[in-house]
Amino acid sequence: MSPSEVARAFGVRSPGMRKNWRVKCPSHRSHGLTLSITDMGNGKTRIVCFAGCDQSDVLKTVGLTWRDLRPLGKIAPVIRWRLTLEDQKESLERQLGLAMMLQAVERAKRTYWAGAERRIRGELEQVRCRLEPEKVMQEYRERTFRERVRKHGFTRMWEEYGET
Ligand SMILES: [Zn+2]
Repeated sequence: MSPSEVARAFGVRSPGMRKNWRVKCPSHRSHGLTLSITDMGNGKTRIVCFAGCDQSDVLKTVGLTWRDLRPLGKIAPVIRWRLTLEDQKESLERQLGLAMMLQAVERAKRTYWAGAERRIRGELEQVRCRLEPEKVMQEYRERTFRERVRKHGFTRMWEEYGET
């Protein structure tokens, strides 16, 4: 795996062109950014937890082994799958931003871009359901709650929830 792929496996959203990333260590559930991921050049990656976690333990928590820190290591299928989904998500988010912007800019084609926005939102939702199911469920619950508040008003809601 490449260093940026390793960084992404540890939850770095946009690794960019950096050579070093700091993240929370998944092994000892740190609050600070104790885990350092470094691009050593030649495709090699070094990971160090400053709280003293064992490197193989840290790797194991995200499904990697020391082989993945070397240039020719193949990406484990589960990681590859996740990276692909994250790529899709990023690309869809960019498309969504574009569709929203173009609705404002290209007034004549507004309906077209509104349609595109709906389609992209649908696709993005599907990708997110696979990538972060708990978060999507939580958002769904919050949305339904807000809709019910709007529909029935606060007093009704209070009565409904107050009973249970
Ligand atoms: Zn640690």
